Amino acid sequence: MRYEPVIGLEVHAELATRTKMFCACPVVDPTCSRPNEAVCPVCSGLPGVLPVVNRQAVELALRVALALGCRVNRVSLFARKNYFYPDLPKGYQISQYEEPLAVEGRLPIETPTGWREIRIRRVHLEEDTGKLTHVRKDGEEYSLVDLNRAGVPLLEIVSEPDLHSAAEVRAYAQALRAVLRYVGASSGDMEKGALRIEPNISIRPEGSSSFGTRVEIKNLNSFRALERAVAYQIERQTQTLQAGLPVAQETVGWDEAAGVTFSQRSKEEAHDYRYFPEPDLPPLVVEEEWIASVHAALPELPWARLERLQRQYDLPVVDARLLVDDPAVADYFEATAAALRSAPARMAANWVTGELFAWLNQSGQSLGQIRVSPRGLAALLDLMAQGTVTLNTGKAVLAEMLQSGADASEIIRSRGLEQVSDAAWIADLVRETLRSNPAEVEKYLSGKETVANWFYGQVMRAARGRANPQVVQEELQRQLKALKR
Ligand code: ADP
Ligand code: MG
Ligand code: ZN
Repeated sequence: MRYEPVIGLEVHAELATRTKMFCACPVVDPTCSRPNEAVCPVCSGLPGVLPVVNRQAVELALRVALALGCRVNRVSLFARKNYFYPDLPKGYQISQYEEPLAVEGRLPIETPTGWREIRIRRVHLEEDTGKLTHVRKDGEEYSLVDLNRAGVPLLEIVSEPDLHSAAEVRAYAQALRAVLRYVGASSGDMEKGALRIEPNISIRPEGSSSFGTRVEIKNLNSFRALERAVAYQIERQTQTLQAGLPVAQETVGWDEAAGVTFSQRSKEEAHDYRYFPEPDLPPLVVEEEWIASVHAALPELPWARLERLQRQYDLPVVDARLLVDDPAVADYFEATAAALRSAPARMAANWVTGELFAWLNQSGQSLGQIRVSPRGLAALLDLMAQGTVTLNTGKAVLAEMLQSGADASEIIRSRGLEQVSDAAWIADLVRETLRSNPAEVEKYLSGKETVANWFYGQVMRAARGRANPQVVQEELQRQLKALKR
């Protein structure tokens, strides 16, 4: 029997607010803060304190909900989700349960078989938990509690089970991250834990419309882990069913090194959490005018920009896709394209997705940190397009621009890198190269045409890469032809 995977995603995104969800503590960067430096009586769960809803968090959540085409509930409710764990000092998490902020949206994703709309079930607000570090030292075992993250606003976005392969799951997650970034709701930085993904996977006989038993994979924090973990579960469940065994409903973790999922617990049910309305918070009321103004201020969304970039700059879809994923990248590209004088925009796309991406990967810098402005890159691209420097020299110049922050023209002038098209100079170089390699000339004359390529390399080397390649090719062909006569 053939089986079809059915997958729905729960995604948690930390909202990019200045302060926490229910208190005035600042939201701090986990990679450069001391433990418990941003903690107060509210987020550490002391008795007698009252939470206050962060308006900026609601606004960011609204942006996401509206970008996803959701229906916003004018009145939504906060609820207590009760469970005990040391990273949750109150003993419960404030979340939304029965009346979430928004419902019934959709996210367009591009799959190998075309565009599809994945239905969004709900979007709701909640708070993050603290972080535990488990230590084993000098024969002792203990856990350290850091509450900096406790109370950071979280947005949970739950899809309908509309996805049917690991590749689609990845496309959905990437598309959702792009939306979060476009509307400025979240950094989406998975390596910092700002975006965590939990796929629910089941398998059913192809053609069936009922659902199989699902397995939930907890807290995946890279697209690669997501895709691998989903593929693993699909394979495993398919084998289980083919062997005539039932799939157990459970919650599993992903072991990245071993490439397997492992059982964490049997699946909890909603009633295990004893949800009840949060008595310390009034219902959240979102006025129509607020919804309208957030809606009116939404930026161009990723799928629209993808289409526009292809059309406006005549870009191949693969390039446009690489550019739109991160709005900062798309902005950088468009600013570069706008500053170009003679080079085509397509060239800017190639250099941003090629050389610049390579530099970002290797240096760990973000686009905001690099020392080359869009205008600076455009100037270099124009110099290459005009033939002042070769493409190869241009790469070296860009590398130096990124290191030192100097202008392209400055570097080219001070290091004498201009490409030389002087025909007499190039003719001399070619003549000299042929004269000092008589054996190779013999080979060429006896019919080994490929020696011409070797000569070309020799001439370019003698010119230290500065000779205009086209002039060299023409001159070389001319002199070789002359030898044949
Ligand atoms: P819970 O909050 O208990 O995990 P929900 O019913 O809200 O459960 O579903 C969470 C996610 O699991 C949703 O994205 C939903 O689409 C998905 N889902 C529910 N049932 C299945 C199923 N049988 N197979 C795959 N995904 C499922
Ligand atoms: Mg769940
Ligand atoms: Zn606090």
